[in-house]
Amino acid sequence: MLDKVTRDIPSGLARGVKQVIKGAETSDGAGVNLTRYIASPELDMFDPFLLLDAFRSDNPDDYIAGFPPHPHRGFETVTYLLEGNMRHKDSAGHEGLIRSGGVQWMTAGSGIEHSEMPEQEQGLLYGFQLWVNLPASQKMATPRYQEFEPVEIPIEKRLGGVDIKVIAGMTLEGTCGAVTDIAAAPIYFDVTIPAETKFHEIIPQGHNAFVYVIEGPLYIHGENRTTAVASNSMALLDNGERLELSSDDTARFLLIAGRPFNEPVARYGPFVMNSEEEIQQAFSDYRSGHFGHIKK
Ligand code: FE
Repeated sequence: MLDKVTRDIPSGLARGVKQVIKGAETSDGAGVNLTRYIASPELDMFDPFLLLDAFRSDNPDDYIAGFPPHPHRGFETVTYLLEGNMRHKDSAGHEGLIRSGGVQWMTAGSGIEHSEMPEQEQGLLYGFQLWVNLPASQKMATPRYQEFEPVEIPIEKRLGGVDIKVIAGMTLEGTCGAVTDIAAAPIYFDVTIPAETKFHEIIPQGHNAFVYVIEGPLYIHGENRTTAVASNSMALLDNGERLELSSDDTARFLLIAGRPFNEPVARYGPFVMNSEEEIQQAFSDYRSGHFGHIKK
């Protein structure tokens, strides 16, 4: 018996490319060199996505300083590592290691203080951090973690050789992601397609969606035009009902989408709330020890 439903190639409006974002080199934490795509001069935010960073270096000087203790309130941080290891500790006593190929989806909610430090002194560190907003009703929720080792993340293998690592959301063929119960109803897929193969997917209409090209170029076939997107670039997609992609050679990309909240956004550094008053409150709560502190 089939344990999943194979649907036909979807019909409807194909999402084309609205904008290509090349990213800006910057530094964050205690001096980690990274490329910022969302929360950059090119793109302030892409509701519900507040920030996207890519870090990729085999020079320890670019990453060794890590992200020492800092707070978060009002949103979620998603760390996905392609290569390398990061150790995570927080003020609630939670500690874990994110390994090469693993993911941590942290709902900061009402607030934690945490540190994110490379657990390696040499070799390649390559990964992404995405910030996903929370709606007003969930900004002060109890902090929560969903953490998965690489072997715990479902992989859908399609006819024709397409592999989809399903971190969050449901694929066209019905594979459900490891991460569940997220307010933005996100899709987070890591997709590899062989040369000259078409990839089809459905993205819920109204979701804001983008593709980050790990290994390209990738052709995105919109309703009226095809756009080539180079490696290490991000393509914001138009609205629509389906997605159609292809490439000349083996390609790999992240497909990420989420339901926009359309709420006012007040942000300052590690706090993302709905109003300036709530940001001031976050600072005052953090100063007065409401978030707790990491035990060394
Ligand atoms: Fe952080």
